[in-house]
Amino acid sequence: MKICAATGNAGKLRELRRILEAQGHEVVSQKELGITLEPEETGTTFAANALIKAETICKASGMATIADDSGLCVDALDGAPGVYSARYCGRHGDDEANNDQLLENMKDVPAGKRGAKFVSAVCFILPDGKHLTCMGECPGKVAFERLAGDYGFGYDPLFIPDECGVGKTGKRPNTEGRSYAQLTPDEKDAISHRGNALAKLEEELPKFLAK
Ligand code: IMP
Repeated sequence: MKICAATGNAGKLRELRRILEAQGHEVVSQKELGITLEPEETGTTFAANALIKAETICKASGMATIADDSGLCVDALDGAPGVYSARYCGRHGDDEANNDQLLENMKDVPAGKRGAKFVSAVCFILPDGKHLTCMGECPGKVAFERLAGDYGFGYDPLFIPDECGVGKTGKRPNTEGRSYAQLTPDEKDAISHRGNALAKLEEELPKFLAK
């Protein structure tokens, strides 16, 4: 199916594209359709914001559209930055400043208390307004410093997922303590919040479309 990806975030688009294409879909970004709208994320939950973005961009594109709203929820910070992950430092989309802010707020948090999870809500919507939202999570912890790798975006260098591993070998504990940024795209997609949400969507989409 041809699907419009409702995002202006290059990192997110890259992941949506590669996961949805691996599922056999064709992805066209809102930018490629000339849509420059940036819907205001006024919701207080990931699901609410995903729906706002999907609805707005679907109206503009006139085609099946998918939006992801996601973020990092840190135990020691009572779930922050959560839905405000993209603007934690006070500006929208400044990844470096957001990472600095997170490190600063976590500087006194000891090793055993740095638990966190990434959460993604993906909303798939049709031009008639019918929509399906699926959630995905990935548990892990916040690093003490950036663990930069060749991949990733956003908070990737600071997030150490509990598990890693793809394909037949399945999941295993991330004993090397590699960050999201140090996983290959295949490895990240196999365990990531977005990968998990889109796997659920793939499972539920046929039933949803048949309704
Ligand atoms: P939003 O969904 O547009 O509100 O933005 C989500 C924000 O959460 C992004 O700007 C990133 O800072 C962060 N985020 C979401 N998913 C990921 C990811 O896979 N890796 C790193 N950061 C992410």
